[in-house]
Amino acid sequence: MKKITSIKTRITIWYTALMLVLISILLIIIGTFSYRLSMESIETNLQKQVNEISQRIMGRHTDEIFYNVESKKEFRNVSICDINGEYIVGQYLYDLTDIPFKEFAPHREMVDGKEYIVYDVFRPARPGETGGYWIRGAEPVGLSKIFSRSFFMIILFIAPIILLLTALGGYYITKKAFLPVNNIVRTADEIYSDNDIKKRVPIDPNAHEDELQNLSRTINRMLDKIEGLIISEKQFTSDASHELRTPVSVILAQGEYLLELAETEKQRELATDIVAKAKQASKLISRLLVLARIDQSRQSFKREKIDINAVADIVVQDMEELAAQKNISILTSIEDNIMLYADEALITSAVSNLVSNAIKYGKESGYVMISASKYNGNVEIKVKDNGVGISKEGLEKIWTRFYREDEARNDEYGSYGLGLPMAKSIVELHGGKIEAKSVLGEGSEFIITMKI
Ligand code: ADP
Repeated sequence: MKKITSIKTRITIWYTALMLVLISILLIIIGTFSYRLSMESIETNLQKQVNEISQRIMGRHTDEIFYNVESKKEFRNVSICDINGEYIVGQYLYDLTDIPFKEFAPHREMVDGKEYIVYDVFRPARPGETGGYWIRGAEPVGLSKIFSRSFFMIILFIAPIILLLTALGGYYITKKAFLPVNNIVRTADEIYSDNDIKKRVPIDPNAHEDELQNLSRTINRMLDKIEGLIISEKQFTSDASHELRTPVSVILAQGEYLLELAETEKQRELATDIVAKAKQASKLISRLLVLARIDQSRQSFKREKIDINAVADIVVQDMEELAAQKNISILTSIEDNIMLYADEALITSAVSNLVSNAIKYGKESGYVMISASKYNGNVEIKVKDNGVGISKEGLEKIWTRFYREDEARNDEYGSYGLGLPMAKSIVELHGGKIEAKSVLGEGSEFIITMKI
């Protein structure tokens, strides 16, 4: 399955990452400048200090050096050595004793992983005297010296806080902006699961008019159009079935009369055919009418106390002849006293349809089992057969109007693919549900579940 990442999360991750890159670039630029400035300032200070001391001891005897450099503070980073590099006075720069003296420019030295800026100046001895002095200034350059405290504050606190605020604020704004999308998805889901085309995407009249608001309005307009089409299609089915009812009844009645009058074998054959087809057409029309009435919420149904045993008896009686043609036994297993508050005629026609299917698609000399029991405060009516079964794909489609698994085979029974959709509509009209289980080649089971 494809992993779903919401657009909100993706946008938030994207601009938080962008923000992180921008802050990093900014910190690198600030850091580089800060580093250069700090180094320059350390070098300048060091040079100033060393040069000052060098000025003071210029042209003096060794002993005088002590008197000229009065304050210990001045020797904070400075030591004075003789021409051979032997320490005379000042701060003893222990780490740097092995580093040779280099005059003129400040130089960087690494000692034991620690970096120093070193500045050496040579002062020749007084005219007439030999030798001279090396004055060395040195300053360690630790990170804390290079970068200011505020720079570390930015890295440790301010940058993470800015990032967090950006992520949270951005997520909140995108979430708000995508609210209409959630409404559209919820409405589409509700229309799908509740089968209710009357639902519309809620639109906040005070909200900002944007692309998504516009999309919601367009979807609502489209739903209005679809609803209108569905209503007129239902109206057409209802009107057409209604209009066809009388002519088909006349054809059926006259066909039956013709059958009575038939004298030759051919006439009897023709009249039988007329009667059979007229019966099929009449069955189709009455199913279409029931469906149209339920769709238009015009199906009158009375809730009366009905006994499932009585319903099963009627169905078995009606179906015995059909079952006998294929030598199929109809078995029943109904718990005593199972009562339902439902419309007896409608429930009987739903169960009867399931049983007639079980026979139609049952195997020669097979069985059909009608059972009913109470389960978890519900009544479960099951119709099971050991017939041809239904394919996995077929199981998803059998509730669709006019769907037939095998059109050629079904034609011999005069099937129209309306029996199961009608049974489903009837059960749902009563607040129940119907489901099917089947294994191809082994048989099928239809289960109606209704509240007692
Ligand atoms: P029809 O009136 O054509 O039988 P239904 O809506 O009752 O229409 O059934 C739709 C399709 O479901 C049928 O064409 C058939 O292929 C399949 N079907 C229904 N019940 C059974 C069953 N008990 N065993 C096998 N297939 C079945």
